Amino acid sequence: MILLDGKTVSQAVKDTLKEKTKDFRSKGNRAPHLAAVLVGSNGASETYVASKIKNCQEVGFKSSLIRLVENIAEEELIEAIEKLNTDDAIDGILVQLPLPKQINEERIINLIDPRKDVDGFHPVNIGKMVQGLPTFIPATPYGILLILEYYKIETSGKHAVVIGRSNIVGRPISILLSRNSYPGNCTVTVCHSRTKNLKEICLQADIIVAALGIPEFLKADMVKENAVVIDVGITRVADASKKSGFALKGDVDFANVAPKCSYITPVPGGVGLMTIAALLMNTLTACENKFDI
Ligand code: NAD
Repeated sequence: MILLDGKTVSQAVKDTLKEKTKDFRSKGNRAPHLAAVLVGSNGASETYVASKIKNCQEVGFKSSLIRLVENIAEEELIEAIEKLNTDDAIDGILVQLPLPKQINEERIINLIDPRKDVDGFHPVNIGKMVQGLPTFIPATPYGILLILEYYKIETSGKHAVVIGRSNIVGRPISILLSRNSYPGNCTVTVCHSRTKNLKEICLQADIIVAALGIPEFLKADMVKENAVVIDVGITRVADASKKSGFALKGDVDFANVAPKCSYITPVPGGVGLMTIAALLMNTLTACENKFDI
């Protein structure tokens, strides 16, 4: 079994980004600038945003954190996004999800200028991705592609089973793995909460992407020998032995599944780190204004 080490791969991506940013700036350009919008003070969201900002610094990007109160009115949030949309000094906008109940998440995502949509959630970018056109790929699926690429994992002709059909992970990774390119060319089965015979389907998989948010859901008896397992899940589970009071659990019963796999991602230290690296890649691309959006 080979561990797909998000730490190593994300560091390699960041080293490349650091070099590219240096090169970009040496040509008289300003540093790429990511604006992160954080509404309220959800513990996990705070951690994610802090990490994204720290990683921006590491690669030489500028970042701004826009903190807004939990009970903000939707119109006020819209105003804040519109300001960022028209600010020429901002290349990428990321609105940390989830948003409070009074806010229509879809409305906010659709409002972000697609040219600054470094999370790749805007329908224009999703549409382009589906058509295989150059565009921002949602950060977590992009991170998964980067990790498959780094370890040169063969995907062509393989049966990939994706568990979960969310707009941010399951749906886009299922589309990307079926593209006519590398990584891709898989035969993809998308499973979800209404799927029957999930175990039988998983047992046919050469590659499994688990993205459902149920800790340790994927058991050893659902995985065939030598499968590649990508664990996207991140759930905080109470753990008195930790200083923070919680541990992070993936969607895979790692201890029992890992021995059967050819490759597997750990949690933490796998896809989560890659998501941030992919977000940084998208931010540099936004700054370079490479896509015809
Ligand atoms: P979501 O919560 O929006 O959707 C869950 C999906 O799982 C749904 O499509 C549902 O149909 C499916 N599902 C639920 N129960 C199921 C079952 N019993 N059998 C089969 N399918 C089932 O999902 P999401 O936002 O994609 O998040 C999934 C997990 O990934 C969460 O733990 C989340 O925290 C994590 N996540 C991690 C990263 C990262 O960077 N590593 C990024 C995004 C999400």
